[in-house]
Amino acid sequence: MSPEPEGGCKSPMGWMMRLSLLLWLGLGSQILALDFPHRARVVEITDLTHDVKQVRLVLLNPSGFVFKPGQFVFLKVPEEFVQEWNARYQTTHGSVFRPYSFASPPSRLPEFDFIIKHFRAPPGKDVPPGVASTYVHTRLRPQNVLHLSDPTGTLYLGQDSDRPILVVAGGSGAAPFVGLLEYWFEQGMDRTRKIHFFFGVRSRRDLLLHDLFSQWAAKKENFTYTPALSSPREGDDWQGETGYIQLSIDKHVEAPSEAEAYLAGPPIMVKMVTKVLQEKGLPDSRIFFDQILARE
Ligand SMILES: Cc1cc2nc3c(=O)[nH]c(=O)nc-3n(C[C@H](O)[C@H](O)[C@H](O)COP(=O)(O)OP(=O)(O)OC[C@H]3O[C@@H](n4cnc5c(N)ncnc54)[C@H](O)[C@@H]3O)c2cc1C
Repeated sequence: MSPEPEGGCKSPMGWMMRLSLLLWLGLGSQILALDFPHRARVVEITDLTHDVKQVRLVLLNPSGFVFKPGQFVFLKVPEEFVQEWNARYQTTHGSVFRPYSFASPPSRLPEFDFIIKHFRAPPGKDVPPGVASTYVHTRLRPQNVLHLSDPTGTLYLGQDSDRPILVVAGGSGAAPFVGLLEYWFEQGMDRTRKIHFFFGVRSRRDLLLHDLFSQWAAKKENFTYTPALSSPREGDDWQGETGYIQLSIDKHVEAPSEAEAYLAGPPIMVKMVTKVLQEKGLPDSRIFFDQILARE
């Protein structure tokens, strides 16, 4: 299999595409060897927001399949869809595969969730929408079977520290943390460590799983949830924090901080948040994001 030349990756838009680009560039040799040995059937598809769906799947051959919270797999877009796409948009995609994070803990295997945002064409650009996410949002149905790679990725917290944890997500960057947080709660980590989840989105309608996060904050003693809207819309009726998420971090994290931080979101968010965390006294060795991002 050869990686397709990706027009979409030229876009400076979200972190997802940027990371994908880094995958093509940085992990090319691994991608050349990429295989899709796992099959999973769609159990349920749920709208989480206007442009984000939760896809629940069940493995067809679960024996031996393991993953660590925070890892991801590559999903292969069916060839028939890619051919239709090429004909419709005059593109030349070969095999199309994209990484998606597990948005559920390993304990739920053989079932697991993805949380997938629909990448539409950037405003003002006469280009196709995102091919894989359009497949998921417009074509994928319950009972369909997806082909997946082995799990991979390193955004994973060991349990050999009692430092407070800062989790910072931008938009659909929350996906891996849904699985990670649930896993940490299963492990009882919230009884021994403070966990503060900062979630930055544009407006109220982008706040995926807000009720779930709010319930966790109400029930778990050491878990705090701070959502912030950078561009509230008229009618959002929002009493919470506004502005970019690094402002909330600056407000709530006292310096010098002993915390360790886990980040996923657009590169600009990661950059700005990292700067504030450094000002709060966190060395780079306590600021984590998937190593693929670190290649930028
Ligand atoms: C480690 C990792 C984990 C990830 N986990 C998740 C996750 O859990 N959930 C999730 O939603 N995403 C996740 N992603 C992102 C995901 O892998 C895809 O990048 C994302 O779904 C977009 O893929 P696509 O095929 O839909 O878009 P692409 O086809 O790659 O297009 C991307 C964008 O480029 C635009 N475009 C197309 N052609 C052009 C052109 N010629 N010029 C300019 N722009 C163009 C498209 O309109 C679209 O907006 C993750 C990425 C990484 C690296």
